[in-house]
Amino acid sequence: MEIAAAYRSYVVRVLVITGAGVSAESGIPTFRGKDGYWRNLDPAKLATPEAFTRDSKLVWEWYRERRQRIRNARPNAAHEAIAKLAKHADEFLLVTQNVDDLHKRAGLATDQMVQIHGDIFVTWCSRCHVSYTGRGGSPEPADPRAVQLESGRLRSIAPTSENDVDLPLCPKCDALMRPGVVWFGEQLPWDEVQRVESYLDRGACDLVIVAGTTATFGYIIDWALRGSVLIEVNPEETPLSRFATQQVREPAAIALPRIVDQLIASPSKL
Ligand SMILES: [Zn+2]
Repeated sequence: MEIAAAYRSYVVRVLVITGAGVSAESGIPTFRGKDGYWRNLDPAKLATPEAFTRDSKLVWEWYRERRQRIRNARPNAAHEAIAKLAKHADEFLLVTQNVDDLHKRAGLATDQMVQIHGDIFVTWCSRCHVSYTGRGGSPEPADPRAVQLESGRLRSIAPTSENDVDLPLCPKCDALMRPGVVWFGEQLPWDEVQRVESYLDRGACDLVIVAGTTATFGYIIDWALRGSVLIEVNPEETPLSRFATQQVREPAAIALPRIVDQLIASPSKL
């Protein structure tokens, strides 16, 4: 299938948008469907400010398990293909709805990507602006002494029983720290939205690839339509499909390596 052949002479400025389908192939469960459930709880109800207010401990336990699952996961062929495309494009931006670090671990530079729904390995204060970044910076060791020793900055509530998890507190204002992700009903991070908008304002994209997302959010559709060619890679039809120049009904890890190889086979432009 010569999907890219017709377009590749134009491909210099690229936008790629990814969603949960790309990470699902690395074993990260999506929020939708049975796989996403955790202890019979619906993730769409756990990933909310209301759930965190009601039961912070439960929400933190869930995020700790998700962090661990992501640490154990590896980037797949889709992540690698996207990193490869970034190296060959003149200008490149990835907008991912995924909060994991698999795009980064596949070799994509942080200035070439925007995590529009946050980063699961960041921990924010729920009240002030204190935040910690990095996989090692997560305040999640079971032993509160370990928290103090490793970070030197964090305090922790001593667990009252073996089954309790530690709740990280802000060293500045004592409020609860929370995972650095955008929950349902919350605003997108303004700075990150600006990074996407300024990339799109600097010039029209020659190619937009949208992979592994059901494109249910209006801003995803809006950004996806800001290019001359739109390739959609998703096993199922989405609200974006009718706008796509090309629809590829395959999993991203199958389709993207092939599409990227076809695109970069034209060295005159890429
Ligand atoms: Zn604080």
